[in-house]
Amino acid sequence: MASEKPVVVVGAGLVGLAVARQLLMDSPGRAVTVVEKEDTVAAHQSGRNSGVIHSGVYYASGSIHAQLCRRGGAQLREFCADAGIPVLGFGKLIVATNGDEAQRLRELLEQARANGIVAAAMMGPMGIRDIEPHARGVAALHVPCTSSVDFTAVAAAIAEDIRRRGARSGSAAKFGEVASARTASTC
Ligand SMILES: Cc1cc2nc3c(=O)[nH]c(=O)nc-3n(C[C@H](O)[C@H](O)[C@H](O)COP(=O)(O)OP(=O)(O)OC[C@H]3O[C@@H](n4cnc5c(N)ncnc54)[C@H](O)[C@@H]3O)c2cc1C
Repeated sequence: MASEKPVVVVGAGLVGLAVARQLLMDSPGRAVTVVEKEDTVAAHQSGRNSGVIHSGVYYASGSIHAQLCRRGGAQLREFCADAGIPVLGFGKLIVATNGDEAQRLRELLEQARANGIVAAAMMGPMGIRDIEPHARGVAALHVPCTSSVDFTAVAAAIAEDIRRRGARSGSAAKFGEVASARTASTC
């Protein structure tokens, strides 16, 4: 809406890009500007993380963190499907190398189930080898619904989406040409 104030988002990592996209989705045509000091998106943490789409195992059941993790994961998978970005569903194996760690995994299993991850299961040494022959441990928690993605590709796709939304309002985004926070590119 024309009456809404223009917004400047500092940083074209996943958080800044996602915020800018949501603003444009909520208010098509709003003047949203993303400034980035590097010459590309996801140049820092967003492009250097482990690439895991977390399932919510680690978060206290019922917490906002756990809820958002599951909701965000589902939204991210949907976004990737639309954008043609592969999501690799290999699952995750959290391995215990001693009895204390195995006990902690049993607690995590209960938490995972309370968070709705019903397929999570404990494994013994043979089960571990069946899934990952290079891993060794006394026990493991297998979380089949954990997946991985190339977050640099995700960031690039969000940036492209923002440009498209900006283009509809007659402006363009050129993240690559932004030299500092004093220079803005309009999305
Ligand atoms: C080791 C590690 C592994 C992780 N693994 C995962 C994982 O597997 N899955 C997962 O979901 N999360 C993971 N995370 C967390 C995830 O990577 C971060 O939550 C996310 O990338 C943060 O995004 P961001 O946009 O806040 O930060 P960034 O990606 O760092 O983006 C900030 C941007 O702001 C720019 N900037 C800073 N100052 C200015 C300025 N003054 N002017 C203009 N631009 C500026 C920077 O150049 C940068 O591009 C991991 C984190 C770490 C540390």
